Amino acid sequence: MNDRFATIRDRMVQEQLIPRGISNPQVIEAMREVPRHCFVDDALQSRAYGDFPLPISAGQTISQPYIVALMTEALALTGAERVLEIGTGSGYQAAILSRLCSQVYTVERINVLLAGARRVFDQLRYFNIVAKLDDGTLGWPEYGPYDAIIVTAGGPEIPQPLVDQLEDRGRLVIPVGDQHLQVLQLLEKKDDGVQIRDLEKVRFVDLVGEHGWR
Ligand code: SAH
Repeated sequence: MNDRFATIRDRMVQEQLIPRGISNPQVIEAMREVPRHCFVDDALQSRAYGDFPLPISAGQTISQPYIVALMTEALALTGAERVLEIGTGSGYQAAILSRLCSQVYTVERINVLLAGARRVFDQLRYFNIVAKLDDGTLGWPEYGPYDAIIVTAGGPEIPQPLVDQLEDRGRLVIPVGDQHLQVLQLLEKKDDGVQIRDLEKVRFVDLVGEHGWR
């Protein structure tokens, strides 16, 4: 996409992502392509490519670009996957995923955010994303199991419904911890159970729901 932010987006990739170890070429290409400024308020557009999270509506945030890239890379997508996201928020993370897999299912519990994200998906013609309003800690059983699941809000533990809705050999990435600090965990489902690895300390807004914070 050729827009007035293309150069600044390229700089974001060169200065924030590559030096910190983001190396998957498809992830880098998606971060270069998706117009992040379309997912924030007009007043914040000039700051959309900064090295920090930004506020969106309803007291929520759009994650820092590096964290979006890190979580996306952890899913090791090859293009054919069906991916579930919990916490649509602005829609930016779902948009990045939509460039790297075949279908994105995303769940958001706050209606104004869901409506805003849907508008941007339509505007950008990202037609392989479906979104619904619900408690995402319950997953989205109708379309499961998923090849990959990403949770973009922090909870006290990994919601069991999400593990249940993950395909064998699937990957799930989620921030787990208390309400101030979490660790990004990568869960891989193997024949003989699950393997969990800690990636990085992070700070996310609360995952609120039946299997999250009440
Ligand atoms: N992926 C988003 C990040 C948004 S912040 C983006 O790219 O902008 C996290 C979002 O998770 C918030 O919008 C919050 O409302 C949502 N959320 C929190 N708990 C949730 C739950 N149980 N189900 C669905 N969404 C939830």
